[in-house]
Amino acid sequence: MSPDPRPALSVVVPAFDEAEVLPVFAARLRPVLDGLAASGLEGYEVLVVDDGSTDATPVLLARLRRQWPQLRVVRLRTNSGHQAALSAGLARARGRDGVVTMDADLQDPPELLPRLLEAAAAGHDVVYAVREDRSVDSVLKRVTAAGFYRLVRTLGGRAREQAGDFRFTSRVVVDTVLGLPEAHRVLRLVVPELGFASATVGYARQARGAGRTKYPLTRMLRLSLDAITGSSTAPLRLATFFGLGGALLTSLLLLYALVSFTFGQTVPGWTSTLAVVAGVGTLQLLCLGVLGEYVGRLYVQAQNRPTYLVASDSLEERDQTRT
Ligand code: UDP
Ligand code: MG
Repeated sequence: MSPDPRPALSVVVPAFDEAEVLPVFAARLRPVLDGLAASGLEGYEVLVVDDGSTDATPVLLARLRRQWPQLRVVRLRTNSGHQAALSAGLARARGRDGVVTMDADLQDPPELLPRLLEAAAAGHDVVYAVREDRSVDSVLKRVTAAGFYRLVRTLGGRAREQAGDFRFTSRVVVDTVLGLPEAHRVLRLVVPELGFASATVGYARQARGAGRTKYPLTRMLRLSLDAITGSSTAPLRLATFFGLGGALLTSLLLLYALVSFTFGQTVPGWTSTLAVVAGVGTLQLLCLGVLGEYVGRLYVQAQNRPTYLVASDSLEERDQTRT
């Protein structure tokens, strides 16, 4: 039997327009991984998922690959978003024992990898890197993140507090995640839901190495909506609650109208009419919006369109040149 050609570990790194930071990232990640390989890790690959970058990222990656054989580049056809890029990376990762996912911008320090693997070796299928210190993040980012995790947990999701997408997942977990039919999976919520044995390793969130954030408010909002509708159907119940509240309010108004009528005070109430029309209208819109969120996702799921398309994989190119 030929030996298993797969490396023991894959490091999946989604990158969108990260040309400025990638050389520094590679320079910091490589010694860590080479060090691990020297002390027993049976091979690794660094799988950078180029999420349709429009800057010099592809050129840079090609250049880096010439000096770093373990670097593998999967390029997506268009910018598909952080989560889709992560999914693409997981689907292609060959890591026999597991996969570490991390950002390319050095906010997730590569030096933490040995500690993640140590915790994994101690028998944990999932090891979360937990941000103990986020002082480098903006106030807006911290406040919205805290609110987001609280909301998800209130709605029944099992988000791990302060854990982003910097984590180790064993091969079993990766295969389980990939087996889920869900298209718009938010990995940081899906992984805790599965219930595998987990551990956490704390770290201080670093400042971005270079470049600007690729997560403007609109993208954060989209991620939150995917996360909330993905982990809970509780918002659908909002419609019922508003409906009940509305019914109560209407009955009271009706009673008031009847009493006024009885006492002959039927002055046309412009204010109350306006309040009712506006109030009910708003609630209806809100409920329709909530319904729309789910219906939209059902539609997208029914379409079953892939969330990403791979344009090239440096591993396959190498294979082709060989044959
Ligand atoms: N990213 C990506 N596709 C996108 C947006 C971001 O692959 O459409 C990558 C990005 O290159 C980085 C990671 O996802 O490696 C996290 O993004 P970023 O650092 O901009 O987010 P922040 O840390 O500001 O939340
Ligand atoms: Mg970042």
